[in-house]
Amino acid sequence: MFNNEELRIVADTIRRAARERIAPLAAAVDASGELDDEVLSLLWDLGLMTVVFPPEHGGAGQSQGALLCTAVEEVARHCASSALMLIVQAVGSYPLVHGGRPELLARLLPRIVENRELFALLVSEPDGGSDVGSIRTKAVRDGDEYVITGAKCFASNGPVASYYTLLARTSENGRNGLSFFLVECDTPGLEVGRSEKKLGQRGSKICSVYLDGVRVPVGNLLGEENKGFQLSMKDFDMSRPAIGAQALGIAEGAFDQMVRYSRERKTFGQALCEHQMIQQIIADSATLIEASRGLVYRAADLFDRGLRNTKLASMGKLFASDAAMKITTDAIQVFGGYGYMQEYPVERMFRDAKLTQIFEGANQIQRLVVAREVLKETA
Ligand SMILES: Cc1cc2nc3c(=O)[nH]c(=O)nc-3n(C[C@H](O)[C@H](O)[C@H](O)COP(=O)(O)OP(=O)(O)OC[C@H]3O[C@@H](n4cnc5c(N)ncnc54)[C@H](O)[C@@H]3O)c2cc1C
Repeated sequence: MFNNEELRIVADTIRRAARERIAPLAAAVDASGELDDEVLSLLWDLGLMTVVFPPEHGGAGQSQGALLCTAVEEVARHCASSALMLIVQAVGSYPLVHGGRPELLARLLPRIVENRELFALLVSEPDGGSDVGSIRTKAVRDGDEYVITGAKCFASNGPVASYYTLLARTSENGRNGLSFFLVECDTPGLEVGRSEKKLGQRGSKICSVYLDGVRVPVGNLLGEENKGFQLSMKDFDMSRPAIGAQALGIAEGAFDQMVRYSRERKTFGQALCEHQMIQQIIADSATLIEASRGLVYRAADLFDRGLRNTKLASMGKLFASDAAMKITTDAIQVFGGYGYMQEYPVERMFRDAKLTQIFEGANQIQRLVVAREVLKETA
């Protein structure tokens, strides 16, 4: 496990790389709706696309939660879309890494690393995102294969992924009737929908994925049959702190901009930062950032130590994302009319922040999780 000093050194390296090589491309990534190849190569070169893989395939071992959060935070400070690439790769590969049979892992992991292949996670469906237990996509056993039919929506990386980890119904037993499968992108019957246009984090491509009698070998079942819901909740325990870290990074990016601008811009003969109402915004933003950091990294630390972190993961995700939405909104206020213009990055950060309140479980759902955990603890 990395100690604090080792983690600081890694964070410094990622911070420098993000500032020098990702920040200059962030506006263009947003405008084009495409992640720059150079950014993607950098993320692979730094070893950040395989953080949750087994250590022999580039993973961070017992420090994966903290390292993933650190990488996501530092990259999101400058470009939320690039940071999302790290999250989707981690959340999409988790069911394979933790549920794949040894033969499947031995065959695929070296190839994924060698060819720098991407994952997408297919959980959400048109009729339900929050209620995972209502999934309708079916996987029916037929000899040595499963036959999968259904539709998935909101697949981040869907248009560019080589592998899909997909949650499907294998029995009519609600949450206890779901199973994860690995589906390769070129499997007959799988159709990738058109890329959707989004409010923010536009450099990450997203689409629906349709499955019509898609056949996968039984060896592509990830984890136990009908235990997919439980595997997906463990995946969330890893990924929700990472979404919190993304929100934290976006907030820090907007905060840096806000503070710098408040020193430069003068009104009524004084720098903005000398007006007390602007100082209040700065103080409140700085406080929210510190509180977000505490929650997010505590959740990641519990995860890394193998302890139950469900409550902290939800708290970190919801607190940091609400904070990011407030801080990016206030950053625009500090910039005044200029903040509303696309020429300044706070406009992009404001749009990017909104997603962190919605995906990986919308914040209403995070509050339900926190309340459920608290009531369980206090019963
Ligand atoms: C840009 C983007 C990327 C995404 N990437 C992925 C991905 O890669 N893979 C994937 O599987 N999914 C992905 N999602 C889907 C995302 O996880 C869902 O959008 C999210 O879980 C909410 O589901 P929904 O959109 O169906 O909203 P709904 O479930 O219809 O909910 C609508 C609103 O009602 C609230 N709500 C729902 N139930 C309750 C309740 N019981 N009490 C109170 N409020 C409630 C929700 O919080 C939400 O605000 C992505 C979504 C977006 C927008």
